[in-house]
Amino acid sequence: MKNEEQIYSFVYSLKGWIALKEDKASSFSMACCGNQAILKTSNLGTQFFAHKAKPETNDCSTGGETEEHRHIKYLVSKTLFECGWRVEVEKRGFTPSGEEWIADIYAEKGKAKIAIEVQWSPQTFIETRLRQEKYAQSGVRCAWLLRSGSMKARDAIVGDYAYSTKDMPVFSIYKNKKQDEQTYVVYNVNKLKTDSYEPLEPISLELEDFIKSLVSSKIKFTKKYSPVKRLYLKIIKQNCWNRRCGGTTKVVTRMYFKEMVFGIEIEYLFQSKAIDDCDDQILKALNSQLSKAYNFAPLRRRYSKTVGGSYVANSCIHCDALMGKHLIGYYNDEDPSMVKTHCIDIPNKGDLIEQGESFEFGKWVMKGM
Ligand SMILES: [Zn+2]
Ligand SMILES: [Zn+2]
Repeated sequence: MKNEEQIYSFVYSLKGWIALKEDKASSFSMACCGNQAILKTSNLGTQFFAHKAKPETNDCSTGGETEEHRHIKYLVSKTLFECGWRVEVEKRGFTPSGEEWIADIYAEKGKAKIAIEVQWSPQTFIETRLRQEKYAQSGVRCAWLLRSGSMKARDAIVGDYAYSTKDMPVFSIYKNKKQDEQTYVVYNVNKLKTDSYEPLEPISLELEDFIKSLVSSKIKFTKKYSPVKRLYLKIIKQNCWNRRCGGTTKVVTRMYFKEMVFGIEIEYLFQSKAIDDCDDQILKALNSQLSKAYNFAPLRRRYSKTVGGSYVANSCIHCDALMGKHLIGYYNDEDPSMVKTHCIDIPNKGDLIEQGESFEFGKWVMKGM
């Protein structure tokens, strides 16, 4: 408190801060207890207020906060302030049902209310989710910066949170000790998970740039899986085996699938399938959307004496004779009559969803990547 007015250290430029230190006409006191405050600058460059005399109770202590932790909070507050946000630190608030939360950094601009939590000590995923829930109930969007001391720790931290969803923006913050002491880098990704398909560029931004990008909506959530898959067919011409017919007819040889992964279309050839065991939903979609356009008889489950069972089969478009699957080679790319149909949308049943993930799973990425 400067006289009766609450002030924050991060709003002052270096020059302004020095001028404030030399302001002997004003009195400075701590907001926590009203005791006398002194103005300090840490060797990392954090401008902060401290108790002139060691506080008597723990209520006033910084809770064992490390210098780095304080520095990161300072840089976040300062950046938000410079972006035009009204910033409060250690802001106390309540959910509509009366549960308390205290935000490391809280900021408002227009109708937007945000919190940035800088988590220094390890916190379980469940704990983070509970705290996030309180913010959500209070109409506050909260992003988490989880500290990691090393690359390995960074990967482990983000690894725990690898299955992130839109309602919980989690990032890791890491200080590269080899670089300038002031450099903190924020990541959205862990490098251990290299076996998984990641078409997105990872975020790796300096703290101030990260905060600026975050509040200007340049970082957005992209779901990994789409609820829709795409399907196309390969079709060839065959002569009808029925001597009384003798016509040529189109037969579907195989179905091919395309998936959207992080909004990027990918074709997994290993997913291509014979039509034999095509499920009813897909069967209905491809008969209604493709059979007329490509002039093949609707596919249906038929009994085959040769096989001694029934399967989804082609039929001759002229005489309805069953065009047996044993007569169709599986891969007919060399067949000069081979045609690929256009793609149709079918529901994605999530065959490719990796363990622990869901349709809600995604990543926070830079827009335009
Ligand atoms: Zn105090
Ligand atoms: Zn025929």
